[in-house]
Amino acid sequence: MGKILFVSNRLEKIQQYAGIFGKKPYEFFTASDENSALETVDINNPDIIIFDSDFNNLKHLLKNLKSMTTSTSFILLVKDEKIEYDITKYINVFLTDEMSETLISSIISANLKTKHSLEQLSDTNKNLADSLYRLNVLYSTSSQFAGSLDKEKLVDYMIEGLDKSLSFDLTCTLAFCTEKEPVLLLNSLYEISDELLSALKLRTVLNYKSLFEDKNPPFEIDIDTLKVVKTVKYPANRFTFTLFQYDNMFAPISLGDNFFGCIEIFKETPFTSDDATCFQTIAQQVSLPLKSATLYQEIKETNLKLEKLERLKSEFISIVSHELRTPLTAIKNSLDILSGGKCGEINDSGQKFLSMAQRNVQRLAGIINDLLDLSKIEAGKMDYHFANMDIHSVIDYVKSSLSVVAKEKGLNLISEETPDLPEIYADSQRLEQVLTNLVSNAIKFTPEGKTIIIRSHLADASQLNAPDCFKNDINKLSGKYIVVCVEDQGIGIAEKDLLRAFDKFAQIENSLSRKVGGSGLGLPIAKQLLQAHNGAIWCDSELNKGSRFYFAIPVSTVGAEAEKILF
Ligand code: ADP
Repeated sequence: MGKILFVSNRLEKIQQYAGIFGKKPYEFFTASDENSALETVDINNPDIIIFDSDFNNLKHLLKNLKSMTTSTSFILLVKDEKIEYDITKYINVFLTDEMSETLISSIISANLKTKHSLEQLSDTNKNLADSLYRLNVLYSTSSQFAGSLDKEKLVDYMIEGLDKSLSFDLTCTLAFCTEKEPVLLLNSLYEISDELLSALKLRTVLNYKSLFEDKNPPFEIDIDTLKVVKTVKYPANRFTFTLFQYDNMFAPISLGDNFFGCIEIFKETPFTSDDATCFQTIAQQVSLPLKSATLYQEIKETNLKLEKLERLKSEFISIVSHELRTPLTAIKNSLDILSGGKCGEINDSGQKFLSMAQRNVQRLAGIINDLLDLSKIEAGKMDYHFANMDIHSVIDYVKSSLSVVAKEKGLNLISEETPDLPEIYADSQRLEQVLTNLVSNAIKFTPEGKTIIIRSHLADASQLNAPDCFKNDINKLSGKYIVVCVEDQGIGIAEKDLLRAFDKFAQIENSLSRKVGGSGLGLPIAKQLLQAHNGAIWCDSELNKGSRFYFAIPVSTVGAEAEKILF
C-alpha cells in the first residue's frame, strides 16, 4: 500500500501513470498546478511524489514541498537529459519517458518498500531511545534510593522518578512515613478542587482497604482527618472529575512483609505495558531502601534511649554514692571512737566484731569511691593534674603502702626497676590509683608464700607485646613508653576471660574471686585513666600459674603533646 502523487502538465503522462498506479495497492493523486500539489500533500500526505521535469516553476514547488514533508520520496520523471543541477539535489530517484511500465512500477514499489523499512527503523530507534531514557531514569532513581535513609525523601525520589519516566498527570500516594499518621501526597499538573480532593481521598482509602481483603487494615484511616500535602505544577489550570476517565495504575508499597503505603497514578493518554513495568519496578525498588530507613530510624531511637538510660544510670550512681558516703563516714567515725575505748572498755569479742565492722566499712567506702570515680570519668568530669614526674616515686609509694597488707597475707612484695628511667607526663595520684589496684588484685588473687613483683622498663611502642585481644589498643601506640608490670603467682585468668576482666562490674567466675569480693570496677577505671594519659593497659595470664598486668605511659615529650590534646 502506498500513496502516490503525480505532478505534471502533460495529459498523456498523467493518463499513463494513472494506468499504472490508479489501482490497489496504490492510492493515486494528480496535480497539474502548484496550488493543487501543495493542497494534496497537505491533506493526503503521500509516500511518493513523482514530478514531471517539464512542470512549470518546478524548483520553486520542490523547495516548498521539501519544507512541508520530511519522509516523502521525491522522484523526477526526466523528459530529456537537460536537468537543472539545482533540481537534482531534491530528488531521490529518476524515471525517464522511455522506461517500460513494468520498470516504472518496480522502481516505485522498491522505493515504497525502502521508505516503509526506513519508517520502521525510525520507529524502532524511537522505541530504543525511549527505553534508554527510561533505563537512565531507573538508574538515577535507584542511585538516589541507595543514597538516602530518609523515608520522606525516598517517597519524593519515587514520585520524581515516576514523573520523569511516565509523565503522569496526577499521583495519589498514601505514605506512612510516621507509623501513626499517614499522609496523602498529591502531585498534580493542575489545581484540584475541594470536591475532587474529597473524591480522591475516598478513592485512596477504598484502594487501601481493598489491599487487605477480609483482614483488618494495619492502620486506621479517617477520611475527615487524613492529612493531605498537595504539589501542583501549573496552578492556573484546574482538574475536573474527568480525571477519573484518564488511564490509571495502582501499586502497593511494602516494606518486606510490612505495609508502607500505596500509589495511584493518572494519565490522559493510555499507559503502555512498558509503562506498567516501569511503574511496578519503581514502586518495588523503593521498598528495600524504605526498609533500611525504617531500621535505621529504629536503631537511632534505640540509641537515643540507651544514651538516656546511660546518663540516668550515671546520675543515679553519682547521687546514690554521695548519699551513701555521708552516713558511712559517720559510721566509720563512731566505730573508730568505740574501738579507741573512748566510750568505755571493750572486751575481746566486742573488739573482734568492731574490727570486722571497720573492715567492711572500709570495703564499702572503697566500692563507693570506685563508683564515684567511674561516673566522673564517664561524665568527663574527672580532674587530672598532669606534670612531669618520675615513675619510681609511684612504685615506691604503692609498694610501701601495700607491703604491710602483703606481709599479713604471707606474700613477698618486691620491685625490680630499671634505674634512671626518663620522666613521664602524668597525674601521679591517678597512676598510684592504677598501680594500687593492680597490686591489691595481685595480693587478693595470690596464695600465701608466693611473690609479687613490680617491674618497670623503657620500651618503644613497636616492641610491646600483648595477647591478641589487646592488639587493637597496643597498635594505637607510637613512640617511647615507660612500661610498668605487676607480676603475681596467683590463680591466673583463662585466655577467654582476659578482655572481660576490664569490663565494668566483671568478676571472673572462680571460687576465690567470689570469696575475696570486690566491685569489679578497678580495672575498668584503670583502663579509662590510662586512656586519659594516652597510654594503655593489658594483661597476660595463665590459669593457676599467675598473671602479669602491664600499663604503658608515654615518656615526657609525648606527654606534653597529650596536654595539648586534653586541654
Ligand atoms: P575487683 O578486683 O574489685 O573485683 P577489678 O576490676 O580490679 O575488680 O578486677 C576484675 C576481675 O578480674 C576480678 O574480680 C578478678 O576476677 C580478675 N582479676 C583481676 N586481677 C587479677 C589477678 N591478678 N589475678 C587473677 N584474677 C584477677
